[in-house]
Amino acid sequence: MQHFTNHSLSTYNTFGLPAKAQNLWLVANEDDLLALHAKGIFAQKHLILGGGSNILLTRDFDGHVVVLQNSGKRIIGQDENEVEVQFAAGERWHTCVMWALQHNFGGIENLALIPGTAGAAPMQNIGAYGVEVKDSFKQLRAFHKASGEFRTFSHSQCAFGYRESVFKNELKDAYIIWEVNFALSTQNHKLHLAYGAINTVLQQKGITAPNIQQVAEAVIEIRQSKLPDPAKIGNSGSFFKNPVVDADFAEKLKREHTDMPMYAAEDGKVKLAAGWLIEQCGWKGKVVGATGAHKQQALVLVNYGGATGSEIWQLAINIQQSVKEKFGVQLQPEVNVY
Ligand code: FAD
Ligand code: NAP
Repeated sequence: MQHFTNHSLSTYNTFGLPAKAQNLWLVANEDDLLALHAKGIFAQKHLILGGGSNILLTRDFDGHVVVLQNSGKRIIGQDENEVEVQFAAGERWHTCVMWALQHNFGGIENLALIPGTAGAAPMQNIGAYGVEVKDSFKQLRAFHKASGEFRTFSHSQCAFGYRESVFKNELKDAYIIWEVNFALSTQNHKLHLAYGAINTVLQQKGITAPNIQQVAEAVIEIRQSKLPDPAKIGNSGSFFKNPVVDADFAEKLKREHTDMPMYAAEDGKVKLAAGWLIEQCGWKGKVVGATGAHKQQALVLVNYGGATGSEIWQLAINIQQSVKEKFGVQLQPEVNVY
C-alpha cells in the first residue's frame, strides 16, 4: 500500500486546494483496508476520500487521509429484463455509467459526467436531471471501521433521501462503502427526459425516440455547456443543498417573489432552487479575490486559482447570510467541510 507523509492534497480535491495530509494512504484492495485497521488508523483522526469532488478542505489535515482506489466493474446476475452489476468503491462514477451504456444497461444514464467515485455515490444519493442513485440501487457492502468487519446494506437500510443517506446521518463516519450493486434494465428502458433541457437538446438533434446512449450524450452536452470543469476551474459542484421548506412558508415566499422557482418535494414540502436564491442576492458571476460564484450557475463556488479553503468557506458564509437576510432561508452546505 502506498503511504506518504506531509503530502499535498491538491490533486485529491476538485477545488484544487493545497491543504496537506500528515499521512496519506492509497488503498487498493481489502488487504490494505484490513492492514490500516490492524494499525489502528481508523481509531485515530482520519478522513476517507474518493475523488474529493464533494469536499472543502479549510486547513491542513493533521491525521490520516485514506483514498479508496479499489477497482472492478462486474456483472453479478441477470434475468430477462434486469442485470445486477457491482462497482468497486474506487471506480470513477462516470466510467461506471459509460460501462453500463456500452453493455446497453439502463437506469443511470442521466447521472453521466458526475465526478467522484462509485463508493461515494450512495453517500449523498447523488442525483441529476430527475434521477437519483436510489432509483437503481440494489445493495452495498461496507467496512465497519470499529470492528473491522464487512456488512451488507439493503436499499431500505441505506435510508436514502434527497441528497441524504444513513451514512451522512445515524451512521456518519462509521462505515467505508466498499462495493455498490445496482439493478439495471437490459431492455424496455424507462427514460427520464422531462427534466431541464434534455428534451430540447434531443429535439435539436432531430432525435424523437432516443436510446439511453443518446440521453447520456444530451446530459453530457448540457453539463459541459453549463458547469465549470474542475480540471480547469476548481469547484465541488453545488456548494449548498436546495432547501426543502414547509408549504405555508413556500406560499408566503411565492406571494413576495412571484417568479421564485418551486418544486414539489416529499411529504407535501416544497423544494426551492438554491442557485436562484443566491443569484437574486447578486452573487452570480461575482469574483471575490481568487474565489467566486460561477457565472452560469451561482450555486457552484469556484477557485479561480490560488484560493485557500478558508477563503472559499468565508464566501460561503457571506452567501448564506445574504440569502437568510433576503428570503429568511438558511442554506445548508452540501459539500463536506473539513
Ligand atoms: P469525496 O468528495 O471524496 O467524498 C465525499 C464525502 O463522502 C466525504 O465526506 C468522504 O469522507 C465520504 N466518502 C467518500 N467515499 C466514501 C466511501 N467509499 N465510504 C465512506 N465514505 C466515503 N453531485 C450530485 O449529486 N449530482 C450532480 O449532478 C453533481 N454534479 C457535480 C458536478 C461537479 C462539477 C462537481 C465537482 C461535483 C458534482 N457533484 C454532484 C458532487 C460530487 O461529484 C458527488 O457528491 C460525488 O458522489 C462525490 O464523490 P467523491 O468520490 O468525489 O467523494
Ligand atoms: P437547473 O436545471 O438549472 O435547475 C435548478 C434547480 O432546480 C436544480 O437544483 C433542480 O433541483 C431544480 N429543478 C429544475 N427542474 C426541476 C424539475 N423538473 N423537477 C424538480 N426540480 C427541478 O440545475 P443545474 O444546476 O443545471 O443542474 C442540473 C442537474 O444536475 C440538477 O439535477 C442538479 O441537481 C444536478 N447537479 C448537481 C450538482 C451537485 O453538486 N449536487 C452539480 C451540478 C449539477 P435538483 O438539484 O433537485 O435536481
